[in-house]
Amino acid sequence: MLCRRLSNFKLNTYRIRQLIRNHSAIITKTDISEEHASNDIANFKVGETVHGFEVKDIQPLKEFNITALNLLHLKTKAEYLHLFRNDSNNVFSINFRTTPKDNTGLPHILEHIVLCGSHLFPVRDPFFKMLNRSLATFMNAMTGADYTMYPFSTQNYQDFCNLQKIYLDAVFKPNLRYFDFLQEGWRLENTNPQDVKSDLIIKGVVYNEMKGAFSENDRILEQKVLNLILPDHTYGVISGGDPMKIPDLTWDDLKNFHKLCYHPSNARFYSYGNFPLTNTLKYIDDTYLSQCDYQNQNHTVVPPQKHWTEPKQEHIMGRYDNLGEVFEKQNILTVSLAMSDITNIYDTFVLSFLTELLIRGPNSPFYKTMIEPNFSGGFIPSTGFDTQTRDCIFTIGLQGLKQEDFPKVIDIYETTIEEVLKSGFDAKHIESVLHRYEIGIKHETSNFGLHLLFGIISTWNHSGDVINALRINTLLEKLQNDIKSDKFFLQKSVERFFKNNKHRLVLTLSPDKEYEKKQLEAEKQLIKSKVSGLTQENKQSIYEAGLELLKEQASPQNTNILPTLTMDDISDDIDHVNREKSKFGPVPTQLNKVNTNGITYFRGIINTSQLTPEQHMLLPLFCSIITKMGTRKMNYREFDNLVMTKTAGLDVGVHFAESLYQLHVYEPGILLSSYCLDKNIESMWQLWQDIFNLNELKDVKRFETLVQLYMSNLTHGVADSGHAYAMQSAAGLISGAAYQKDLLTGLQHISYMKTLVKTKRYESI
Ligand SMILES: [Zn+2]
Repeated sequence: MLCRRLSNFKLNTYRIRQLIRNHSAIITKTDISEEHASNDIANFKVGETVHGFEVKDIQPLKEFNITALNLLHLKTKAEYLHLFRNDSNNVFSINFRTTPKDNTGLPHILEHIVLCGSHLFPVRDPFFKMLNRSLATFMNAMTGADYTMYPFSTQNYQDFCNLQKIYLDAVFKPNLRYFDFLQEGWRLENTNPQDVKSDLIIKGVVYNEMKGAFSENDRILEQKVLNLILPDHTYGVISGGDPMKIPDLTWDDLKNFHKLCYHPSNARFYSYGNFPLTNTLKYIDDTYLSQCDYQNQNHTVVPPQKHWTEPKQEHIMGRYDNLGEVFEKQNILTVSLAMSDITNIYDTFVLSFLTELLIRGPNSPFYKTMIEPNFSGGFIPSTGFDTQTRDCIFTIGLQGLKQEDFPKVIDIYETTIEEVLKSGFDAKHIESVLHRYEIGIKHETSNFGLHLLFGIISTWNHSGDVINALRINTLLEKLQNDIKSDKFFLQKSVERFFKNNKHRLVLTLSPDKEYEKKQLEAEKQLIKSKVSGLTQENKQSIYEAGLELLKEQASPQNTNILPTLTMDDISDDIDHVNREKSKFGPVPTQLNKVNTNGITYFRGIINTSQLTPEQHMLLPLFCSIITKMGTRKMNYREFDNLVMTKTAGLDVGVHFAESLYQLHVYEPGILLSSYCLDKNIESMWQLWQDIFNLNELKDVKRFETLVQLYMSNLTHGVADSGHAYAMQSAAGLISGAAYQKDLLTGLQHISYMKTLVKTKRYESI
């Protein structure tokens, strides 16, 4: 799971074990009725103690139809947040504040190893083993810069209890065996494990994972910004582990880190949905918490960063991307500022709002000054407001730059801020950003409880007021009042947090054609330093450990001890959606009537079979630009403003409908999707109408800018997910549909676009 900062939240997750299944519609026999579940909540009274947990606070959160319960385990001071909501997709998560002080990857390696077997369930990789025993809609574990979390979600109560047992035992009673450390962390091993005389190399799951983690310059830069701008405490190190430092880690360090950080006193439990709370509290207290005493956790507290009195500038080298722009245009520049303390809920809210105003869409000041002159490859993906750390960070960065453009970009940054201070923001632009918040509150994502957890985890991790952070309506009202009562409110905030903020880092990156070679050389030196002092006996025991590990890995696991759902646990009742089929003219239409919280959702498919192969090749580009060119009556800025004031955006994408029965049969098409508040439904249809009625695209300059932006994002992720591209190309060799997909979204598409753009015939395209 790798969420980018351009979406609402970002997670620095190193573990890609995302096993999300589609939000299944199965209603279970053990489902708890609303009445039953509400009664459970109704039993809780502030000040009373339930299974060792004191109820500290009960608050309604009207915007989400939630009743929030804050509990504290009296003996261990473990915190518990329960969000009751009549939603069957229940979530449970155990979260720890993990704040490493070195680069050995302690929290990341520990996260891997606790999932290698525990006292009750000595089975490696329980998530994968549970796939055919569970109806989970999500199972994962993630390491952030200062927390480690273990969340899952399911709609089945028996499943909820089963997974809870596995998760709790994994984190509180892991086996942490030496061989698991060797396998997941790092080890020296013979290149040929059967040959004691063969060369020694360093191996290990996390060691290898982290060698690959920084294969994209975006990731290198993002990590470096964090390390440099908040250098004094845990953010000064790489929590996932620096491959050059991982081999300094010992098994004892790891066991000790577990004792220090995975203690109930450092735990935050989270549950969401309509399952009863009492049983969970009883199980946690009986099985784990009642057996522990309080342990002081001051060592995991992250203090606010001391703010600088002078801005800083640094330069680093990165990879040269041979699929990307020419060498001279592969430089990146970022400007980052340390902003609010995350526990200051209102300041943080205002800053996330200001960030939207400043960078999002063609009406924002930075888009106008940085993107429209079309001298770069657009914003870097980490552009935005990062609320994952104690001190929140604003970052704006441009990719695809020439080195000589660096001073110009810094100058543009400063003059843009000056201009905002002088002229303020356009009222229509403010209105469209406010609308985005309004619709964002009402829009329910398919895994809502998980979405809320990701949104609050960092605030909670630093003991911020989570309940007030969730009161978005209150925050929004306060902001609107502040804007109303002081027309310079936003400008004053920009002055305070941007103009007068000396804690500013300018970080630049240039490509180095020797980057990989240098890394290989460094690894060689590292191995040399590890091997040079070894005696003959040492080498013999490394060889024997290697053989032992191979034997271990090959031995069958007793998965029968894992709990499983049976057919009796699963109901055959399916939640039927009220569905009406009709026709608008020749267009078959399906209307689904469900409670959507005041939002209307639209999806439409246009069949493109009649296009020529050449036209099909242009389809991805067409989809990416068609809603960004303006219409017959409006230029692209006016149109964007209208779209963002009336809807959550108009999405157009390439679509393939593959036949379920025949390998090579598919229908190519375009997928249209959008949603809006019910009151704006007529406007939404009108906006689509305007797009359909476009008969020519005249603004060649705008088109050229959009093509440049499209191109510079095209090769993002290729180095990171080479395997996915390879799989897609391979599938293209055996299926017609997959071949077409590869043509339009895979490596073939990249080379087609590169050739096309070289012609520079923007008008004829
Ligand atoms: Zn990992």
